[in-house]
Amino acid sequence: MSTDKNIATTLAHALGKPDQRTGAVVPGIEPATTFARDASYALASPGHLYARDDNDLCRQAEALIAHMEKAQSSRLFASGMAAIAAVFRTVPPGAAVAIQSGIYWGTTVWVRKFCQRNGIALVECDTTNTVQLTETLAEAAPDLLFIESPSNPTLKVTDIAFAAEAAHKAGAVLAVDATAATPLVCRPIEFGADLVVHSATKALNGHSDLLAGVVSTSNEANERWKLIVEERHDAGAVLGAFETWLLVRGMRTLALRVERMNASAMAIARFLDAHANVESVLYPGLETHPGHDIAVKQMTGGFGSLVSVLVKGGADEALAVAGRLQTFLRATSLGGVESLVEHRYSIEGDATGVPKNLLRLSVGIEHVDDLIADLDQALNG
Ligand code: PLP
Repeated sequence: MSTDKNIATTLAHALGKPDQRTGAVVPGIEPATTFARDASYALASPGHLYARDDNDLCRQAEALIAHMEKAQSSRLFASGMAAIAAVFRTVPPGAAVAIQSGIYWGTTVWVRKFCQRNGIALVECDTTNTVQLTETLAEAAPDLLFIESPSNPTLKVTDIAFAAEAAHKAGAVLAVDATAATPLVCRPIEFGADLVVHSATKALNGHSDLLAGVVSTSNEANERWKLIVEERHDAGAVLGAFETWLLVRGMRTLALRVERMNASAMAIARFLDAHANVESVLYPGLETHPGHDIAVKQMTGGFGSLVSVLVKGGADEALAVAGRLQTFLRATSLGGVESLVEHRYSIEGDATGVPKNLLRLSVGIEHVDDLIADLDQALNG
């Protein structure tokens, strides 16, 4: 179907058309890993040689994500971390990289190891502080600047346009992990980012039943993008046919889910902000959030479904609140239809400076009244 419609319409159809033979309105799964040639050794169908790169539904899913992202091209990977790793593998040994401090712990931990193994100098800085960011870029002259917006779990908002300009001036490319926003809410390429990463495990799929990742580019002629594409083919971190099918199915309802989840997250942030047993709420939709004005500038249709709350007290009090929750499930991850709560300090420890009293909420699609009632009883003890 054409891409000149509203994004919710394009998503509902997932860029597909009914099957020409049967009229099926849902695409089939193509599990074949290899495709036969005829007697003259020609492929039966061009673009169908070997499944590592040749899967029509994978191409359709990538086209849909590129369309949402306003990107020139996208490539799916076997997980969000595989997508992030594909970006960092473009950094030459001996170069430098800069990453935002306090981002997804799994990324930070892996990047630290990766840089150490490859003789890459790593600087971590608060990219929401424009002075610190400018100084870091000038001193480190990195090949790559990697940020998250909003960041997980502290929901900091980096000014993507500023970061892109500063990175380019310093000779770096800017890669943005916008998983917590979704491409419906924030499209970093519109603000000058070169590469965008998502853990499609989260809201893109939205049902907590597959691992996937995606990288998108502002310029498919760029040598770095060509390397990402080549590496995915050669090193093989592709998404399987069944997962791709699930992802396409999940994305068909993305617009509805994002609308509901963002509205509920906003209501929950306001409720928590006024609660006597809450020290503070980290959510870019709140006017008091230090990054609110930037969030308004670079996010549309809401501020995401991730809300972090600092409970009055320390780790024990936060864990007690989490333990009393009945509708929120105590589990890691985010972006699914079911609401989740996580005590991040229990996972990260002191490695990233996450506050001991922080609970991260991933707001799902349940009725918001039930979610607020659950939080209220848990906070009141
Ligand atoms: N980026 C962000 C912001 C995340 O929260 C996560 C996982 O929680 C990832 C990347 C990694 O994604 P995956 O678990 O799909 O490898």
